[in-house]
Amino acid sequence: MADGAGKKDVGVSKRTNWVTDLVEWYDANRRKLPWRSRPRPYAVWVSEIMLQQTQVDTMLPYYRRFMKRFPSLRSLAAADVHDVLSLWQGLGYYARARNLHRASQLVVEQHGGRMPRDPAVLRKLPGIGEYTVAAILSISFEIPLPVVDGNVARVTARLWAIHDDVGRPATRKAIADRLTGPIQTVSPGTFNQAMMELGALICRPRDPSCGVCPLMKHCAAKRQKRVGDYPVKKKRKAVPQYDVVVGVIHRRGRILLARRPASGMLGGLWEFPGGKIGSEDATAYPDTLCEKILSETGVEVKVGERLCTIDHTYSHFKIRLHAFLCRAQAGRARPLASDEVRWVPPRELDAFAMSTVGKKIVAAYDR
Ligand code: SF4
Repeated sequence: MADGAGKKDVGVSKRTNWVTDLVEWYDANRRKLPWRSRPRPYAVWVSEIMLQQTQVDTMLPYYRRFMKRFPSLRSLAAADVHDVLSLWQGLGYYARARNLHRASQLVVEQHGGRMPRDPAVLRKLPGIGEYTVAAILSISFEIPLPVVDGNVARVTARLWAIHDDVGRPATRKAIADRLTGPIQTVSPGTFNQAMMELGALICRPRDPSCGVCPLMKHCAAKRQKRVGDYPVKKKRKAVPQYDVVVGVIHRRGRILLARRPASGMLGGLWEFPGGKIGSEDATAYPDTLCEKILSETGVEVKVGERLCTIDHTYSHFKIRLHAFLCRAQAGRARPLASDEVRWVPPRELDAFAMSTVGKKIVAAYDR
């Protein structure tokens, strides 16, 4: 029978305490990560925000650079948002950086620079959801709030053979409720980090290492030989793909950049002018690009050769971007669809905060 997430530990061995086995394993096997040595709320917060949608190995160099430049919450709050975005470029999901910056300012303005310990107050800060609240408060202050991220949802779905869709908020809530008892039997910060670490290192999405797993003798999915059936996830809709054209526009030894509006996707980052196109044939791209650049910047251009084509996947869609070399013919550049436009010497392009795709265009241009 299906074991709903809200039920008691049906199917889980009671012979030894699974929490003890988990914590002993964590103490012996945890990775040395910079925010773990002395868990300050600010360091834990930055690490948790960076780890959303990003693997530890990828985020570590970003984390180190970020903490060197902004070692305290107050230094982040006092920073210019463009410097923050600059350090974030390449990590993606830039709203995380803008929210982190704004939230640090609110903590300084409203809480004297000290991280609030009340979950309800913390949750009101931009970019801090249920998961981040639980991570910050448990790891920094030992408050017993279970973290239910993707790793923990997967481990518990297998441990208890949960048949409910772990993508549903109701299932996540039921898992959190069910972990509320166990987390109170040990250090809450250790418990949450151990669950996340087990999901990252042992109970991986594909090919989990059940043979060396500390929870093997407690695990219902393993006992049923149905590890591959968990976690249950509803199939997602196919991700749409869009074609995009942009121009690397030259005028008197400089290149035109536009800064995206501060709110919205990739807000505040610099980009090459252009935009999404319809289903037109590739031969129509140059004409479409001319129209887009004119309507967005007021500059008339002549489109030259194709510089590069870049495929990129965002969270909810994919793009195929075609970048063309262009030459400005007439018109004064104006921010008709952006916050700012600027003519930039090519050697200075690296100094402007851009998305991963923007950086790839710069790299193709430099080759
Ligand atoms: S025994 Fe396997 S499936 Fe079960 S928790 Fe451990 S790694 Fe995951």
